[in-house]
Amino acid sequence: MENKFDAIIIGAGPAGSSAAILLANNGWSVALVEKQTFPRRKVCGECIAASNLPLLHALGVGPAFERSAGAALRHVAFMKGAETIIARLPATNHAEHQWGRALGRETLDTLLLERARAIGVTVFQPWSAQSIAGGPGAWRCVVKSNTQTSQPLFAPILIDAHGSWEKLPSDRVEPRRPRLGADLLAFKANFVGTCLDEGVLPVLAFAGGYGGMVVADRGVTTLAACVRRDRLDMLRQNDLGKSAGKIVEAMLKRECAGVRKVLATATISDSWLAAGPLSPGVRVHTDDGLFRIGNAAGEAHPIIGEGMSMALQSAWLLSAELLGNKSAGCRQTNNDMVSQQAARHRYAANWHRQFAPRIRLASAFAHASMSQRGANVLLILLKTWPGLLLLGAKWGGKTRCAISEASIASLAPRAESV
Ligand SMILES: Cc1cc2nc3c(=O)[nH]c(=O)nc-3n(C[C@H](O)[C@H](O)[C@H](O)COP(=O)(O)OP(=O)(O)OC[C@H]3O[C@@H](n4cnc5c(N)ncnc54)[C@H](O)[C@@H]3O)c2cc1C
Repeated sequence: MENKFDAIIIGAGPAGSSAAILLANNGWSVALVEKQTFPRRKVCGECIAASNLPLLHALGVGPAFERSAGAALRHVAFMKGAETIIARLPATNHAEHQWGRALGRETLDTLLLERARAIGVTVFQPWSAQSIAGGPGAWRCVVKSNTQTSQPLFAPILIDAHGSWEKLPSDRVEPRRPRLGADLLAFKANFVGTCLDEGVLPVLAFAGGYGGMVVADRGVTTLAACVRRDRLDMLRQNDLGKSAGKIVEAMLKRECAGVRKVLATATISDSWLAAGPLSPGVRVHTDDGLFRIGNAAGEAHPIIGEGMSMALQSAWLLSAELLGNKSAGCRQTNNDMVSQQAARHRYAANWHRQFAPRIRLASAFAHASMSQRGANVLLILLKTWPGLLLLGAKWGGKTRCAISEASIASLAPRAESV
């Protein structure tokens, strides 16, 4: 197999596959390395904000997304204890794509990866990046297949899109951080036969955590939640022998009337998945020479459901920078260390401008929702002024895309969409 490329991308989540499509579509030879076999389920609330739909179309998967995704999400709800407050979600001002929708990650991630493969990206899957050496201009990344075959890949540019749940080989020397009570562990399960209204996106607040529900593709409801480790440890003491996911499900039904009602007639269709601990925060500014996109660059508390927006849009910002997208005010990146460093600084500054405010907002919302007193204050505020939910959704980035229409047009694929 070929082993010299213009760019190597580690991780084929929404960030990695999008960057691969954009670079390959503009004539680059790209290696995309993904350790898992697709389709694969993933812990995620699976809501895609409307601001991303033009990007999915430009990436060539728009029609397939439209065919598969759940109903347009026009309302948001806040559920705590016995209370449910519902408000309208803001529409974007895009003529065709005004509302977000939900699609299972087994489908979305596969669509994007297969699109990348179809336009000529060399996909190494299931292969994992084992070691990284060299630096900007001359990277060497050794990848290993599930049959233990190893191969070195070479490229002047290395893009880290491996998410935030595991370490890259280059980080593995760092000591393991201790387990903390405040660690957030994430859970997801899918249910059929729920009575959740399609088009409503409830956010759940409970002591020591938060969550969300949505009807995604094929009428399947996704229930995702984040729970502090100390809360989970306490819950476990009363439910010895049960899986953590089942314990979370029982707690949600007990403590949140909205979940109890929605799941009353439901059966679980795909088992509970768990991941974490989450690491919300900004990681885009580094001096190790890698370009970071998606969760590898930074992560917002998933209570605002903007992780995939940040993955898709950061992939786009970086690709525009690397490709010298004139309409985005970027310059062509050369392969030497100095010009890559300048590109990294410009990209990081742009990233910070676009995404740091929503990371801060998500953090404030998450911490308020997890504390009894904070959630009660939120409830009083939202009862008085439900429109605050709509404003929060706007501030959280639901209607604003970091990518200009000109940049979308200039990097749009030449090949037919699927
Ligand atoms: C509970 C919860 C709910 C959420 N809900 C939403 C939501 O409703 N809407 C939303 O927009 N976002 C949501 N998110 C956030 C969203 O899931 C992430 O932000 C998104 O998956 C990030 O995409 P990514 O491409 O950066 O990384 P990932 O999707 O994590 O993809 C990284 C890929 O890299 C691969 N990989 C890792 N290491 C290696 C290696 N060494 N070699 C090769 N491959 C490797 C992994 O297998 C993986 O496929 C939620 C997150 C959680 C935890």
